[in-house]
Amino acid sequence: MTTGLKVENLTRRFGGRDVVSDVSLEVMPGQVMCLLGPSGCGKSTTLRMVAGVDRQDSGRISVGGEVVSDDTVHLPAEARHIGLMFQDFALFPHLSVFDNVAFGLKGTKREAMRRVGELLERVHLEGFETAFPHELSGGEQQRVALARAVAPRPRIMLMDEPFSGLDNRLRDGIRDETLDILKDEGTAVLLVTHEPDEAMRMADEIALMREGRIVQRGAPYNVYNAPVDRSAAAFFSDIN
Ligand code: ADP
Ligand code: MG
Repeated sequence: MTTGLKVENLTRRFGGRDVVSDVSLEVMPGQVMCLLGPSGCGKSTTLRMVAGVDRQDSGRISVGGEVVSDDTVHLPAEARHIGLMFQDFALFPHLSVFDNVAFGLKGTKREAMRRVGELLERVHLEGFETAFPHELSGGEQQRVALARAVAPRPRIMLMDEPFSGLDNRLRDGIRDETLDILKDEGTAVLLVTHEPDEAMRMADEIALMREGRIVQRGAPYNVYNAPVDRSAAAFFSDIN
């Protein structure tokens, strides 16, 4: 099987300090890898390098077996087959739901209509094509953002705390719906969160990060049941 995402020995320095230090990980198609750790440990910086909006000081990033960034190669974000979902949904406010989801699509109008229709049905928003973002609830906007991110069939989906703006009542449902769709699409997912319970619920594999380094990696229940040290145990202890 070809790899979805491969990250090798990524390092990023700010002001003489290693904010990301020798980070390596691999995510297979259809797998959810969760980068979990406390605020400030370097998760978003890692994700930004993978996305191509920041550049590492050293290390290599490959997508689908192709190097997209190392010392000599540096493809721009739009050439990396990557989809993004961040906490602020950033839907285009002046575009309809249909146009938001169709935004990144190439090909004929007819193909776009089929793809958008299929995805809006998947996220239970059929009939909302002509609505505008401000007419939707937070949960509905999140589902449009999901449909939009998935629409161009990215190989990799990068998610940075994508559910933290939602209230608890909605969050579990949207987490499950998001997982179902990404698994169906066969997307390799790199999910960043500081919440152990989110990682436990969504990850196939957890990479526990602290002060720029990955300190432990494994299946959620293994990491939870056998934390590598006292500090990792404390981090998991407030899970409910
Ligand atoms: P996390 O997402 O895990 O909360 P970040 O990756 O956002 O952490 O940040 C990790 C560390 O790097 C923090 O100490 C942050 O202040 C620092 N940092 C991030 N971006 C920059 C930057 N552009 N310049 C200087 N320091 C930065
Ligand atoms: Mg962050």
